[in-house]
Amino acid sequence: MTRFFRMLAARDARWQRRFDLCSIHRLPVLSLTLRVPYKLRVSSRMRKLGEEFWNKILQLPFPSSTSSRGPLSIYVRYNETEQTDDGFQAFAALLVPVKELKLFSIHVETDFFFGPLIDLDVMEAGVSQERANLGFPPRKCLVCDHDAKECSSRCTHSLEETEEAVRRILAGVRL
Ligand SMILES: [Zn+2]
Repeated sequence: MTRFFRMLAARDARWQRRFDLCSIHRLPVLSLTLRVPYKLRVSSRMRKLGEEFWNKILQLPFPSSTSSRGPLSIYVRYNETEQTDDGFQAFAALLVPVKELKLFSIHVETDFFFGPLIDLDVMEAGVSQERANLGFPPRKCLVCDHDAKECSSRCTHSLEETEEAVRRILAGVRL
């Protein structure tokens, strides 16, 4: 199998894993993937950073709207991280309300320096929760401030430009 097909197979397997975890645990499932070009995504440095981002997220206060509650980690009922042919991925089944979890994930993607480098997805009972349903705008591109999906489908930025944007964000890495 070529590298490209191994990457696609890993994505299919990830999608299936999210479904399975939802039905096994009957809880909302939070998943993290890296939003960086393939070559960086499968590197050992990004794997290590992915682990660090995930651990950091689990230590953040939940819900994000109050500061009086414990870290997200106290609600974790299952936790799994793995390096695949599509890069680092992490999943957690959490005993929390799904809407609060989606708001939390948008907060992390938006307000933390490493937010632009990750995708956090929230799924419950096999249904992916959408930002738009909570009134949030689509995610911004890593390089410019436009809608990420538009830049990606139009191939607005070169690979070099995107890698440079990732390097700029990582230059400020402090966890
Ligand atoms: Zn852009």
